[in-house]
Amino acid sequence: MRSYFIAGNWKMHKTVSESVELAQDLGTKLAGCREKIMIAPAFTALDAVSKVLQGSNILLGAQNMGPEEQGAHTGEVSVLMLKDIGVRVVILGHSERRHSYLESDALINRKVRLALAHDIEVILCVGETLAEREAGMLESVIGTQLKGGLAGVNPEAFAKVTIAYEPVWAIGTGKTATPEDADAVHAYCRSVIAGLYGEAAAKGTIIQYGGSVKADNVAALMSEPNIDGALVGGASLKADTFVPIAQFR
Ligand code: PEP
Repeated sequence: MRSYFIAGNWKMHKTVSESVELAQDLGTKLAGCREKIMIAPAFTALDAVSKVLQGSNILLGAQNMGPEEQGAHTGEVSVLMLKDIGVRVVILGHSERRHSYLESDALINRKVRLALAHDIEVILCVGETLAEREAGMLESVIGTQLKGGLAGVNPEAFAKVTIAYEPVWAIGTGKTATPEDADAVHAYCRSVIAGLYGEAAAKGTIIQYGGSVKADNVAALMSEPNIDGALVGGASLKADTFVPIAQFR
């Protein structure tokens, strides 16, 4: 039976105590959930949330990490630090990192390879802006982001990569791609992956959709053949809105 990967990205929200409270609530309400579940609190709350999630079915994710193992990199957080406190997954290449902090595919690729070298799973985010979509550049943007982000990643390491397709115009805006439109882009992502890693790997790759996923649209999105999960921002900040998404079936 197909299993979906539902991930919550808490972004720059919640104090440590607020994060612990939500993690405890989710731990109780999602115990036994049939989907793969991850939550990504802010860096400051990761250690405390890690302790809450011990023994639970919810994976701990980080929202970003530095491209170096350690050293003189003011303000960065290292893969070794994340691993040390129980982080299992890292979100890389989120559109907010690409657009607000000008992260390039080359930088994202260094982070992807470093995370995988330390056995941390990666959610690699890709997505086009509205202007790029309207200019007919959707496939070239997505193709470049996928190929750039995955450069030098061997097939064995690629098995630990999830792709998240997140159209930038749908993030935090309340606008969602129609399930059919999203599925078409997911199919394109799969064809790029097939070119890089072969048909079997492409078939087995989890491709999440992200962009204003809510309880009332998740089932339709997940019913599409190429949509294997969701990366959820705003609706992951409360158990009342995240639990129904995780339990969409
Ligand atoms: C996100 O930031 O990854 C995201 C999909 O946000 P939202 O669900 O709020 O659109």
